[in-house]
Amino acid sequence: MEQKITKAKHLPNEQRKEFYQSQYDYYKSFNCRLLIVSTIAYLTFFFTDCGIFGRFAYETLLSRLIVVLPLLCFLYLYKQAKSYRIMVIASYLMVHIIIWCTDWATYLLPDREYAGEGMMIMNLIFVCAGFCAPFKYCLIAHCGLIVDILIANVFIRYDDVVMMLMFNIPCVVAVCIMHYTMEKVYLDHYLVTQQLETLVVKDHLTGAYNRNKLKKMSNQDTEELNIDKDVPVTFMVLDLDFFKKVNDQYGHESGDRVLKHTVKVIGESIRSSDYIIRWGGEEFVILLLETDIENGVTIAEKIRTNVELSDNSVCPITASIGVAAYRGGNYHETIEFADRALYKAKTEGRNRVVVYQEDED
Ligand code: GH3
Ligand code: MG
Ligand code: MG
Repeated sequence: MEQKITKAKHLPNEQRKEFYQSQYDYYKSFNCRLLIVSTIAYLTFFFTDCGIFGRFAYETLLSRLIVVLPLLCFLYLYKQAKSYRIMVIASYLMVHIIIWCTDWATYLLPDREYAGEGMMIMNLIFVCAGFCAPFKYCLIAHCGLIVDILIANVFIRYDDVVMMLMFNIPCVVAVCIMHYTMEKVYLDHYLVTQQLETLVVKDHLTGAYNRNKLKKMSNQDTEELNIDKDVPVTFMVLDLDFFKKVNDQYGHESGDRVLKHTVKVIGESIRSSDYIIRWGGEEFVILLLETDIENGVTIAEKIRTNVELSDNSVCPITASIGVAAYRGGNYHETIEFADRALYKAKTEGRNRVVVYQEDED
């Protein structure tokens, strides 16, 4: 099956959310440290207050220290919540709380000359906080800085609010453009990585998975499947009967068409949570999760019938199937058992399903 390249602008909503989640997951520890460091920096401005007052500035002590409370709430949420939406909103709220506390401290200071510099530092924090955030959130949160300045001015009466806005508005615009561009670059990179990951586990011809999928689903050393021990799992090995003749009589391309059609028929006979793995030429391993051996045999019989009855536009074809229950441990062992059952199906006349009997050994 050809891999379709998904264009960034045509990205479905669900996939876009996955992208934002992965962006957040990648930057979340950076974002958390940014907020801790910003809070510490904010606290150290108490010494700047002391400098401005020329004495111990007990007036601003509460407005400085109180910022620790929302930080603790943020850290608690950081441990609990995984969703990018909640965490991005929480981190931008934290940045705004630092701004509001700055406004409170500024309100108490006798000299507001340095308020402009404080806001420039906040722009820097917005640059870094935007790494883990969708552009829309970044736009709303950063424009909020201008609103913060305007509201704070009602109470504080900055020395020169016009100059403050003239510095901050271009900063907000520049940072938003930067984040918009950055999001596009991240998204392209994310899509390419996704496509590469898909290529690694998929068979190019049929669109079924390849052996790497089972490797990814299992422990690297023990090759045991990473699934709950109580979940029943059935393995099948399916092999097309006399497939060589198809190639010999109708040509290799027609053989390929039959292979693609077979995968389609198997796919229509199983659930979307099951896996079809192209094990070799015309041999497929089918992995049925949450399926005991009795149901596994029923599904194998369904696949066998559907392969026999469906029209692949080349020639009639049949399949032999070996079925075995997975009992934990190395999955290769179960495939080996299913393979033995397949061998029996072939020797007994083909176009049939045979179950591996444990007492056969
Ligand atoms: P049996 O019933 O015993 O399985 O007979 P068979 O002819 O199917 O068995 P065999 O394993 O000898 O033949 C498999 C054939 O599958 C041989 C090879 O040419 C063909 N084959 C393997 N991979 C591909 C492929 O990607 N495309 C095509 N068209 N044929 C393939
Ligand atoms: Mg065959
Ligand atoms: Mg074969």
